[in-house]
Amino acid sequence: MPPACPNCHARIGPLDNTCQACGADIQLFTLAAERALLQRALAEPSAVQPVSPEQLVPRLGDYLVLQGYVSPDDLQTALLQQAHAGGQHRLIGQTLQDIGSLTADALDRAIASRLLELQTALLEANEGLEQRVAERTAELKLALERLSEFNQLKANFVANVSHELRTPLTHIKGYTVLLSDGTLGPLTADQRQALATTHGAIVRLEQLINDLISYAAAARGDLTLNRRPCSAAMVVLQAVQRSQAKADRQRVQLVQDIAAEAPPVLADEEKLFWTLMQLIDNGLKFTQPDGRVTIAVSHAQGQVVLTVRDTGIGIAGDRLPEIFEPFQQLDGSSTRRYGGTGLGLALVRRILEAHGAHLEVASQLGQGSQFSFSLPQYDAV
Ligand code: ADP
Repeated sequence: MPPACPNCHARIGPLDNTCQACGADIQLFTLAAERALLQRALAEPSAVQPVSPEQLVPRLGDYLVLQGYVSPDDLQTALLQQAHAGGQHRLIGQTLQDIGSLTADALDRAIASRLLELQTALLEANEGLEQRVAERTAELKLALERLSEFNQLKANFVANVSHELRTPLTHIKGYTVLLSDGTLGPLTADQRQALATTHGAIVRLEQLINDLISYAAAARGDLTLNRRPCSAAMVVLQAVQRSQAKADRQRVQLVQDIAAEAPPVLADEEKLFWTLMQLIDNGLKFTQPDGRVTIAVSHAQGQVVLTVRDTGIGIAGDRLPEIFEPFQQLDGSSTRRYGGTGLGLALVRRILEAHGAHLEVASQLGQGSQFSFSLPQYDAV
């Protein structure tokens, strides 16, 4: 029988170290099979037949011809004899001995030198593999360094552009105020209405620029907290008050559920307020009219838990990790229905992480979402 690849069973030549059909490394395959056999023998000695050294050497007949131990004709005769023997399986070295073409001594020598060659090949392959792993690790490290440089550049760019946008916006805002309050002359009702709309747009733009600046600062690791003991319940009340008009406009019910005597927490009050506003804003934005957004404060085991829950569109489980990516919005289409920049949650997470807190999300598509985090209660000593 001509030698065959142990992986794909295609024919292989006597000098092939690699299978032409599937590219398998014949020597490594053989050694792996040998190792598996030895491991089986160690684990379950009774289940394994004794192995003769000859069984450990692949394609021994070809090797014996190549090394001049036997002639190609001798090998052919031995192979024919094996074929005639049918079910009675004799190894090729033994058959060559049977027909007097090879001595036991020569067979031992050939097997020993072939095993040595295979072992050397395995060692070399291992060394090559280790070197390749080291090279790939170094490449990955470099790619990671480049990525973090790139992120730094992106954060710098966002920060610079935002600052540049803020200056002209301040002028625009200043003049709309002067126009609105009549300092620059009397206005018609239509002009006053147009200015009110402009002012609303300016406030939104200003908020967006501030978010961009905060995000860029956080991304550069410049997020500084001004932590003081404060009442989470009060912050929630203020955030609910600030959001009420928006909720009314959208016909979404805004519910507050604040546990009595919620203890104070140590937090940056301004950033905590901003965080809650983001979560409430999202709740309102992604909830249909007649839906509900609930903001709850509870406390247990030294922790104050803040939760914003909505009955809105929900988020598919497999897309949950995406919502924390900066600039990522689940509806990224050009016809997207909901406004926003995709920065809110990325920044919320960073702010909470700076407080040592973790934002938990639970959501079900079509059912609603719940965002919650805990802050340790502040115990004045
Ligand atoms: P933005 O709201 O500006 O798009 P965010 O970072 O706050 O950015 O949110 C990222 C995305 O996460 C949103 O675009 C939306 O797809 C999803 N998301 C956030 N909050 C909710 C929510 N309460 N309900 C459903 N989807 C939400």
